[in-house]
Amino acid sequence: MPRRSTRRPGFPGKWSIKWARWAISVSAIGLCVTVHNSVAVYPIMAFGSRAQIEHWVPPLARGEKIGAFCLTEPNAGSDAGGIEATALADDDNYVVNANKVFVTNGGIADVCLIFCRTDPAAGRRGISVVVAERGTAGFVVGDLENLCGMRANPVCSIRLYDCRVPRENLLAGEGMGLKIGMAALDIGRMGIGAQALGIAQAALEEAVRYARQRQQFGVPIQRHQAIQTMIADMATQVDAARLMVYRAAALKDKNLPFSKESAMAKLFASEAATRVTDLAVQIHGGYGYSKSYPVERYYRDARVTRIYEGTSEIHRIVIAKSVLAG
Ligand SMILES: Cc1cc2nc3c(=O)[nH]c(=O)nc-3n(C[C@H](O)[C@H](O)[C@H](O)COP(=O)(O)OP(=O)(O)OC[C@H]3O[C@@H](n4cnc5c(N)ncnc54)[C@H](O)[C@@H]3O)c2cc1C
Repeated sequence: MPRRSTRRPGFPGKWSIKWARWAISVSAIGLCVTVHNSVAVYPIMAFGSRAQIEHWVPPLARGEKIGAFCLTEPNAGSDAGGIEATALADDDNYVVNANKVFVTNGGIADVCLIFCRTDPAAGRRGISVVVAERGTAGFVVGDLENLCGMRANPVCSIRLYDCRVPRENLLAGEGMGLKIGMAALDIGRMGIGAQALGIAQAALEEAVRYARQRQQFGVPIQRHQAIQTMIADMATQVDAARLMVYRAAALKDKNLPFSKESAMAKLFASEAATRVTDLAVQIHGGYGYSKSYPVERYYRDARVTRIYEGTSEIHRIVIAKSVLAG
């Protein structure tokens, strides 16, 4: 068992500790930013009326207000068409009742896109998006989720009890909910792919730094072939993930179809991030399993990228459908 010294292996000085503390919080902040931009602001810009865009986008773009995307419910996760929230028209308002769970930014969000049924009898075609603002009567922020990773993000439930939302807060039109949701997730998946890539890159850098400094059997562990194999696998996974994420982004920039490539990038990058962070922990040995080093945090943060904005299993279904359709 390594003897604990005052100077931990691989931690050369105070600046590194400061840097590491900052770095370990970045993925949860990245989650805040990607959800805000990709699945809250983007749908308003793409599907909102001129008046809606002028009302919500400037404060959201300035960061004075924070956005959230409220689709998931206790009985509807992967199956978005199974949501039970309702928004029933009453004069100039919708009366919204909803129980949304796992809302990223939920604890701080001002502008929430709520997926709900405006026509409960119309199945998937009765799903719409209304924008509800924090502070409206009946809008309740629930308790924070006690998450495994991404703990700096206030992910929580949002409940609406007979919450009266002006009818002018409907995005695009009744029945447009799933179309808006899918378009937002195409963009969002690229953001999660980029996030997974960033976590994997950070884990690789930490592993290399540690492998250069940690001595065992009289040499830095980077000299052991088993460590080199792990570093090679990590670097290759990170590179491949980067190329896939950048390809999806380049297609989007050129206004070319990018849904399949975005799903592939998210699937590959998230799975690469879980493998790479696992290897980073391994290279750190017992210290990798301790909170003294950032890699245990990367390991926990990476894990959720295979779950949110569509699980790996759902991504495989989306990709297969696209490939089989030719
Ligand atoms: C930290 C965090 C933040 C989140 N942020 C948001 C947010 O901001 N907004 C939001 O709306 N949601 C958010 N979510 C919810 C997230 O998108 C869902 O957890 C995810 O879509 C999966 O839904 P579920 O958890 O209900 O799992 P389920 O859908 O119950 O799935 C359970 C398992 O069954 C598998 N499965 C389900 N259906 C199929 C199928 N047809 N074929 C094969 N396998 C299947 C899944 O892949 C999974 O392995 C967040 C979740 C977390 C953990």
